[in-house]
Amino acid sequence: MKRVYLDYSATTPTKKEVLDAMLPYFSEVFGNPSSIHGFGREAKKVVNESRATIAGFMNADEKELYFTAGGTESDNWAVKGAAKALKNKGNHIITSKIEHHGILHTCESLEKEGFEVTYLDVDGDGLISLEALEAAIKPETVLISIMFVNNEIGTLQPIKEIGAIAKAHGVLFHTDAVQAFGNFKIDVKDMNIDLMSISSHKIYGPKGIGALYIRKGVRLVNFVDGGAQERKKRAGTENVPSIVGFAKAAEIAYRDFDAHVEKLVALRERLRKGVMETIDYCKYNGHPDQRHPGNAHFAFEFIEGEALLLSLDLVGIAGSSGSACTSGSLDPSHVLMAIGLKHEIAHGSLRLSVGDFTTEEDIDYTIKELKTIVERLRMMSPLYDKVTGGK
Ligand SMILES: *Cc1c(COP(=O)(O)O)cnc(C)c1O
Repeated sequence: MKRVYLDYSATTPTKKEVLDAMLPYFSEVFGNPSSIHGFGREAKKVVNESRATIAGFMNADEKELYFTAGGTESDNWAVKGAAKALKNKGNHIITSKIEHHGILHTCESLEKEGFEVTYLDVDGDGLISLEALEAAIKPETVLISIMFVNNEIGTLQPIKEIGAIAKAHGVLFHTDAVQAFGNFKIDVKDMNIDLMSISSHKIYGPKGIGALYIRKGVRLVNFVDGGAQERKKRAGTENVPSIVGFAKAAEIAYRDFDAHVEKLVALRERLRKGVMETIDYCKYNGHPDQRHPGNAHFAFEFIEGEALLLSLDLVGIAGSSGSACTSGSLDPSHVLMAIGLKHEIAHGSLRLSVGDFTTEEDIDYTIKELKTIVERLRMMSPLYDKVTGGK
């Protein structure tokens, strides 16, 4: 059976070049970077070279980049670390309703500790309003956390404008750039970003490694206490092979940047057009052009998202549902509710994300199979029968 992976927003395969770069750092260069002998120094050197490489791709200084165990940890550290460090100044945080759970659940946990959080609405395309953001700032506001690119519907926020507002009001600005790093050019100085989360496994690197950019001068409460690693801010022996892999993945992402983006947009547009032209009662979600190059998000009326995903899986196609049904809840995702999708439509949602190994054949196969599946599932829907008069 043909196997088509269209879930690159969930994770990406580690590229061969990345794996090859990592391999020597398991059994050959295996020293503990904190050790003062030659073995340790060798490991420390490659950790710092990797740090400089990644920092360079966001116009940060290498001393401003701290390795973590992934995007979720970076999100937790940024928001909790900033809130707690600044609690004498104020207890108010501003975020949006469409953040990743790494941010939303972190904010909810802070609310239980007495912090106050404003969750900004987004419009039908998934964009926050800059006026609403500015109006939400109070004297007690200490942090704004708005994601760079949404992981479900792909919408890109006006990051530079948000950074300018935060700066003008003396409020820290954190952005979850896990979906953006490697897919957009990022300049933390030009965009006035104070804190930024990134993750390796979304850019063809290994899982379980990420980083937090902390602008020089910004003080955070430590998230992991222990040894003196990561300039005494994030303890624990460095994951040297993964750090090397992360740097290699970033290097490839920005080396092949234009070709990567062009390829993804072409494949994504082929998919979007194919689906929209062959399947009726279908809505395309997210911003029409300010979006992740590889993200396509559809909502089909008279369809149950889970049935759709299972049927796709049976013909070898891997996609993702925007609805949280799979995790045991019957509610559609918070993102789809926030953009104002009606429950009925939101339930039939499907995220298909293309990547560097996707081919035109994959796309054409998916369009064809999707059309067949949607028609078959709708035949079983009494609602669809009513709308089409049973024809
Ligand atoms: C994947 C993802 C995360 C979580 O990163 P992990 O490295 O898997 O912990 C956070 N935010 C966004 C937007 C993501 O897409």
